[in-house]
Amino acid sequence: MEKKVSAILLAAGGSTRMGLDADGKRINKLLEPLCGMNAIERCVLRFAALADELVIAASEQNLEAAQKAALLSSVPVTIVPGGERRQDSVLNGLKAAKHEIAAIHDCARCLVTEEVIAKAIASAGEYGSGVPAINVRDTLRRTGTGETVERDGLVRMQTPQCFDREKLIEAYAQAGSVTDDAAIWQGVYGQVRLTAGSPVNEKLTERDDVGFFKRLIRGESEMRIGIGEDTHRLVEGRRLILGGVDIPYRLGLLGHSDADALIHAVMDAMLGAAAMGDIGRHFPDKDPAYEGISSLILLEKVNEMLKKNGFAVSNIDAVVIAQEPKLAPFIDEMRKKTADALGVGIDRIGIKATTPEHTGPEGNSECITVRAVACIRG
Ligand code: MG
Repeated sequence: MEKKVSAILLAAGGSTRMGLDADGKRINKLLEPLCGMNAIERCVLRFAALADELVIAASEQNLEAAQKAALLSSVPVTIVPGGERRQDSVLNGLKAAKHEIAAIHDCARCLVTEEVIAKAIASAGEYGSGVPAINVRDTLRRTGTGETVERDGLVRMQTPQCFDREKLIEAYAQAGSVTDDAAIWQGVYGQVRLTAGSPVNEKLTERDDVGFFKRLIRGESEMRIGIGEDTHRLVEGRRLILGGVDIPYRLGLLGHSDADALIHAVMDAMLGAAAMGDIGRHFPDKDPAYEGISSLILLEKVNEMLKKNGFAVSNIDAVVIAQEPKLAPFIDEMRKKTADALGVGIDRIGIKATTPEHTGPEGNSECITVRAVACIRG
């Protein structure tokens, strides 16, 4: 029988080399948005595909982000407190884990590939240990003396470092202060088995890395486009809500939810891009749970569904076709509410309004129609 795997994801580091943001606050590298998802979320998605459970060791400041990321997992997740040192966090994770193999991974290495993970796990299953490493390609030079360091025989160690979990816990009992689990293992059982690492499995360390990581993510992911359209009838006695904004007008949109045609079109565009059906399928208008509900809540749900499938919204563009009322004063607030629901910057949300010159049903104020496109990556 295949041995089961507990992935221990470390999200407790101090980001000491990231520097400060514009307000003088220390940048937390694990919470930086990297094309729609932060590093913890990326690691959760990657490891949920290959492990039987996840244990996230999170510092207090990363606790909320870890809880949010856990929602993306398709396997059980336990969150444990991070420790003072890396090895303390690992030990907390090892003790909370249940399975035979422990795959210990730094969340800062959020671009790790499934291939790297699978090889290290397979090696641990067969030999007790498996640690990804890559050859050193650059010339190494000591800055103080100017001396060139011979790179032959040197490798760069990566994670996930994978081990027989119980044997590693025993080794921990005998360990002093060390930099990684391979060193702890080696102290008791001899050298670890090296497996193939990858040059993209870099560690997010310095502030300049953020842009580099984003370029790598964009490069490796596929761009997809979806279209959505929605029309709602204008009637008396209803509120007019577009983009989550309550707009004063003598008529409002008729519908089961808040009838926010703009958000409905956006959701259909997102679902269409992911080939995941449409809102009618996910939120049937017969379901009393959705009666009068704010469509922004549904938009958040659609966004989570896409994330679960590995997609992140890149940008949205929408056009509202309405004769009345004047929408220009409300556009920025609509963009802000839509961006907030999606967890992206307002610069990724385009919303325009156009009047149909008194032609057609929109021009006669019988209805409002919205067309939207969504570009997603995954
Ligand atoms: Mg609708």
